[in-house]
Amino acid sequence: MSGSPEILKTNLLGLPKADLEAFVGSLNSKPFRARQLMNWMYKRGEGDIAAMTDLAKDFRAELVQRAEVTVPEIVKTQIASDGTRKWLLSGGNGQAFEMVYIPEEDRGTLCISSQVGCALDCSFCSTAQQGFNRNLTTAEIVGQVWLANRELGWQVGDNRIITNIVFMGMGEPLANFRNVVPAIRIFLDDLGFDISRRRVTLSTSGLVPQIYKLAEEVNCALAVSLHAPNDELRSQLVPINRKHNIAELLEACWHYLDEQNGRSVTFEYVMLDGVNDAPEHARELARLLRDKPAKINLIPFNPFPGTTYRRSPAAAIEKFRDELMQRGLIVTIRKTRGDDIDAACGQLAGQVTDRTIVRLGSKTFGLQVRA
Ligand code: SAH
Repeated sequence: MSGSPEILKTNLLGLPKADLEAFVGSLNSKPFRARQLMNWMYKRGEGDIAAMTDLAKDFRAELVQRAEVTVPEIVKTQIASDGTRKWLLSGGNGQAFEMVYIPEEDRGTLCISSQVGCALDCSFCSTAQQGFNRNLTTAEIVGQVWLANRELGWQVGDNRIITNIVFMGMGEPLANFRNVVPAIRIFLDDLGFDISRRRVTLSTSGLVPQIYKLAEEVNCALAVSLHAPNDELRSQLVPINRKHNIAELLEACWHYLDEQNGRSVTFEYVMLDGVNDAPEHARELARLLRDKPAKINLIPFNPFPGTTYRRSPAAAIEKFRDELMQRGLIVTIRKTRGDDIDAACGQLAGQVTDRTIVRLGSKTFGLQVRA
């Protein structure tokens, strides 16, 4: 053991403005110091408190003792031929999680994780295969965006490289409500990453009570993993449906839009060959969402080792889209990106070693490793 006692430092990245003000207040400093700190961290990408030169010297010296800016460590970086990047990040104790950057002509989307693993057990998702390990902290969630900005070359304002953030990496964000909501506040805050509320998207498998709670807390875009037009099929694919069925889920979605003055909810629909991709499924889906503030995003299934599902053929996906469009629905087909580095939706596996695998409704003990 070394002589000096370890002081547990506060990670400033995890603190929304109000909490940062309270923190600087606890150090007997004025609230405007919080603004200065946010300016350094989020506009200038500075992570070294000692280098934040316009902070009063005494305050800076105390801050160095009490606080830090730390981000998850990069274990591995992969760059795909289409420019998509995937980072494997350390969660400590042999755990890892992933984030993906997807460059497009008119935008740059960062897909972030909210948990190490996931407990929701959707049958077609590779993250589900590894079970749930733990929630990411607010600092780890914000740290992903900070880190990606640093890796991609920090730019602010109109030149920003990351224009959109989506919670479509590992984990169920609404199952980590306590840490995800403050992270969203930092993404939206004009002193933070200053991203517009329509460009921060939370994707959920359908945790109904938390959708109501979200409506009271924060204003961002909502995407919902629907994946089936009826309860029988959805319960097989997305087991949380057994607890909160489609009718309940849709009601929660419309409530969210009402409360937040939102335009529409995006419904994600994974295209699984011979499972949910028949024209009749499309017609059933159209009956469910017709005349509703809904957009549908068809996601070609991305296979992963061990899965028995297959991607629907392109012709079936197009037919499905046409059936929906003929009935007046707004539909897009998601482009699969980063194929050569397994960076596509539902393929983020991270790495979880030596721990309890906990799944919805069942508990198994085991060891799984995937680099
Ligand atoms: N837990 C959140 C985020 C999941 S990832 C949620 O359920 O919404 C984002 C999207 O990818 C979800 O719609 C998810 O169902 C989908 N997805 C998962 N595995 C997939 C796979 N193998 N191929 C295509 N999409 C997948």
